[in-house]
Amino acid sequence: MFHRRTLLALVALLAAAISPPEPASATICPTSPILRRAEGTRPANIGDLKAQLLNYKCFGTYDREVKQVFVRAQAYLERRAGRVSKPAIVFDIDETSLSNWAAILANDFGYIPGGSCKELPDGPCGWTAWEEAGSAKVIGPARDLFDAAKTKGVAIFFITGRHEKVRAATEANLRTAGYDGWKELIMRPDGSRTPSAADYKAPERGKIQAQGYTIIVNIGDQLSDLAGGFADRTFKVPNPFYLIP
Ligand SMILES: [Mg+2]
Repeated sequence: MFHRRTLLALVALLAAAISPPEPASATICPTSPILRRAEGTRPANIGDLKAQLLNYKCFGTYDREVKQVFVRAQAYLERRAGRVSKPAIVFDIDETSLSNWAAILANDFGYIPGGSCKELPDGPCGWTAWEEAGSAKVIGPARDLFDAAKTKGVAIFFITGRHEKVRAATEANLRTAGYDGWKELIMRPDGSRTPSAADYKAPERGKIQAQGYTIIVNIGDQLSDLAGGFADRTFKVPNPFYLIP
């Protein structure tokens, strides 16, 4: 018969043996899902949240859920395009049309505005330098929607929170990713800030509609991309990796 302390030690050893190892760094995807439990009513541990984000992105769920949204948006666009005069669509850019996953991963889900971005994939990667590098990858289902809009004669607008100073790099990045033929790329003036991105984006949609367009689809990864009206339908792409108020 085991002594109680011996039994407890054996249980602890067994638990350690079956727990998956933590990744040494979050700058690479893990090879299998990381499973841990929350502690009752306490706020979730930030390391656990990061593990959930890695699981969500690295094992296909994120990509599948992103695609589902674009497929629904495309079906609506194709039904609606012929029924309004001057139909238009508004795309957000980051985490809607282009993926910044390499920088997000390198920065371990932190936001680092300044500094260089020469250390990929290990990081850190300054966000402005990343935008200037024009290396963001296409989000395939977004490009499918973009192409469908072109086929249907729908005018395509990008409205992005990126500033004018990265216009040339952003346009080059969009073209490298396979987007071409948009009507207008609307960017924030350098140095401008609003309490919410919606305070800038909604009025810009208003200006598009004032030109006689009907925005049939507005699609973005943040609620602030979609708030404030000026669209028949809005479509929310998943993005649990960061929040733009
Ligand atoms: Mg975005």
